[in-house]
Amino acid sequence: MFSIPEIPVWLGQWVFALFGLIFGSFFNVLIYRVPRDLPIAFPASHCPHCMSPIRLRHNIPVLGWLMLRGRCKDCRALISIQYPIVEAITGILAFCAVRLVHPDASELIDFARVLPVFWMMITLVPIAAVDFPYQLIPDTVPVGGLLIGVAVSFLPGGMDWQQSLIGIAAAGGGLFLFAFIMGKLLKRDAMGLGDVKLLAAFGAMMGWGHSVAAVIAASFLALVVMVPWRLIRKESNHEPLAFGPFIGVMGPVMFLWGDRIIAWYWNLLRF
Ligand SMILES: [Zn+2]
Repeated sequence: MFSIPEIPVWLGQWVFALFGLIFGSFFNVLIYRVPRDLPIAFPASHCPHCMSPIRLRHNIPVLGWLMLRGRCKDCRALISIQYPIVEAITGILAFCAVRLVHPDASELIDFARVLPVFWMMITLVPIAAVDFPYQLIPDTVPVGGLLIGVAVSFLPGGMDWQQSLIGIAAAGGGLFLFAFIMGKLLKRDAMGLGDVKLLAAFGAMMGWGHSVAAVIAASFLALVVMVPWRLIRKESNHEPLAFGPFIGVMGPVMFLWGDRIIAWYWNLLRF
């Protein structure tokens, strides 16, 4: 067996924030390339105007953009401020993930809990940025979640692999079945496959119960947010709805506070 590093939270929060910044840089690639159906790994980052490659030091999250003062080194074309903003938000979410798991900074990092919350929180950035405009969730998000689900099953205090597998099958499979039946009833696609994959990954990270609770809570949240939003924007109800961001938000909520929320909900039903 390998030994798990013992890192105090006050230090670990910055380490995870750093990883958040790096993932933020990668999410910029996803946000640009996935909707355009471009390969993710190749070519390396380049200026979309003059195609010249971005130098390594200018690829440093946030700082690279500041060094360049928001312009391409070669052709002086503007580089969107969206890039450093995405990186900064992802870094901040990573920091928050650690502190939500560990309000007490003197504890040691519990990787079995921090890793899933870290992944679920930082991936809200690509989910929101791609799903809202395109009704699409980059596959990297659920694939990473599945990998973390597997990794965590090797850690003390993590979910065991049987629970993970049942979670994947029941949460992902259940939502797939639900979407399929709704699709037949409504005679149109009720839900994207991206939502199903996302929920399968949730199942791997927190088991089927909390994942199902996340979908139910997400439906309420979507209703509360989207009905007024559509009234204000005078959008029709037939326009496709991005459900991914709502499931995405409820993932870490259920991971962190699911036991209490589910208990409260059962209590409510008893009256
Ligand atoms: Zn350029």
